[in-house]
Amino acid sequence: MSAPDAVPLDTDVRWIHGSPSPRHLVDPPLQVHHLAPGTVLVRQSKDLTYEAPFILLLLGEDRALLLDTGAVDGSELRSTVDRLVADHTATRTGDTAYEVVVAHTHGHGDHVAGDAAFSGRPRTTVVGHDLDAVRGFFGITDWPSEVVALDLGGRTAEVFGIPGHHPASIAVHDALTGLLHTGDTVYPGRIYVEDPAALLDTLDRLVAFAEQRGVRHVLGCHVEMTRRPGRDYPLGSRYQPDEPSPFMTVAQLRAARDAFRTVAHRPGIHRFDDVVFCVGEGPRVLVPLQARALVEQLRWRLGLLRRRPDA
Ligand SMILES: [Zn+2]
Repeated sequence: MSAPDAVPLDTDVRWIHGSPSPRHLVDPPLQVHHLAPGTVLVRQSKDLTYEAPFILLLLGEDRALLLDTGAVDGSELRSTVDRLVADHTATRTGDTAYEVVVAHTHGHGDHVAGDAAFSGRPRTTVVGHDLDAVRGFFGITDWPSEVVALDLGGRTAEVFGIPGHHPASIAVHDALTGLLHTGDTVYPGRIYVEDPAALLDTLDRLVAFAEQRGVRHVLGCHVEMTRRPGRDYPLGSRYQPDEPSPFMTVAQLRAARDAFRTVAHRPGIHRFDDVVFCVGEGPRVLVPLQARALVEQLRWRLGLLRRRPDA
């Protein structure tokens, strides 16, 4: 489907964003939002995990693709997915063969922690986390640049490799809605760069793909920025009342690519309007991150976070 025909997404939603103190926990465990029919975005609560990841469910006519299982035990997500699948297939007649593919944007712990809740699910495939498992399942011979198609029935997920944050990271493009899911590789927050050379190549390919396919929305797994350009919430934040949308534009993706080119070879923390690149894992990155995290944790425990973080 060409981009002008893309099904519009309802991205205008106030996401759950944590609680001002441990004595005032206010979020449900999950927020479920229908971006479009059969296109569901779920967020895990910051009351359960500061990572508060977003989890995407694409429901086709023959099967569904769940991208990630979150940062905590997956029972709540499992029952939510079961309900969404049951609703989606309720009008189908005499067909119980509907499948669910549980894949991952990448194998970090906050994206796979709920896998066990899906491992016994009927007609469900849980894809492994390492590069061989990911390539094998999707049939990617020419890693990372080959774009392969996963037919969900009536809609196709296009998948390709985007290493740099994690060696087995994938991007997923939902042609039906023009949504490009970039996992932890591009999102409004801190992009932890494990392999700068790989990320340079990945960002070039993401921009080229987005331009060629007419991508409408770029989505990642977290939000860590505030609405103030270049200002992120501290690592481990449990309350983020001033978050921007998790959705980015292709122009923002391009800007992130251009920005990274200027800092890829310098270990450290590099702030730009929409993203923060954390290059390497040395003290230049870890010491300031951990120091801010400690202060933030203390302020949250004491209930001192009611004011805007940039005030
Ligand atoms: Zn990650």
